Amino acid sequence: MKVVLATGNKNKLREIREIAGGKMEIIPSSELGITEEPEENGGSFRENALIKARFVKSKTDLPVMADDSGLIVDAMGGLPGVESARFLGEDTPYSVKNAEVIKRLSDVNGIYRSARFVCCAVFIGQDGSVLSRTGVINGCIGYGVAGENGFGYDPAFFIDPFDAMTACRAAGMPDSEAVEMVSALGRENMASGVINEDLKGYISTAQLPPDVKDAVSHRGRAFRFLFEDIRSI
Ligand code: IMP
Repeated sequence: MKVVLATGNKNKLREIREIAGGKMEIIPSSELGITEEPEENGGSFRENALIKARFVKSKTDLPVMADDSGLIVDAMGGLPGVESARFLGEDTPYSVKNAEVIKRLSDVNGIYRSARFVCCAVFIGQDGSVLSRTGVINGCIGYGVAGENGFGYDPAFFIDPFDAMTACRAAGMPDSEAVEMVSALGRENMASGVINEDLKGYISTAQLPPDVKDAVSHRGRAFRFLFEDIRSI
């Protein structure tokens, strides 16, 4: 099956192609010359994903997929949420955005720093029928940033060591290697002060190897289930 993905973002395309595992031919909308983007003014991740998908669907007969994602921080009343890409301005570097999120949580401790990445993936079939799935990964905002992998809010977003182990296993890493890696990163984070005793062992999604993050990411979860739904229609 050929499906157009409403994106011009190479990272997103790579990640989603990897999740599809070659079972689907995924063509980025940019390759069809669709480079304009509609205004994302929906009130939810699903609404915004549908806005992107419908815009591209109006320009092609092929089935279309799109996603919308972001970071929800409980102590910020759910912000940046659907505004994640636009928080403090679209062109503001993520080092500044992450520093601001951490600053706003200066009076909040331990697991009250809870946050989650959310992704809603949608599919519009050739006949206009709609399928959608939402994926979540839970974690906490660190007291500082750590890690060089990933993008966006990854350096500020930390998952607990047990979830990190689950991610390593899902990516096929042997348990002994995973325990060693997760423990070493946890110790490093305690030493640098980006986590404290309250969040002992937590590591950021920017510290995870990309295949490990993809195995349990909000986007990975949403698209794996969406692909299963598509196969069953
Ligand atoms: P969009 O889904 O392309 O509209 O982007 C949503 C925004 O949410 C991104 O620009 C990032 O700021 C943030 N975001 C979504 N997923 C992730 C992730 O996996 N890591 C870090 N930031 C993310």
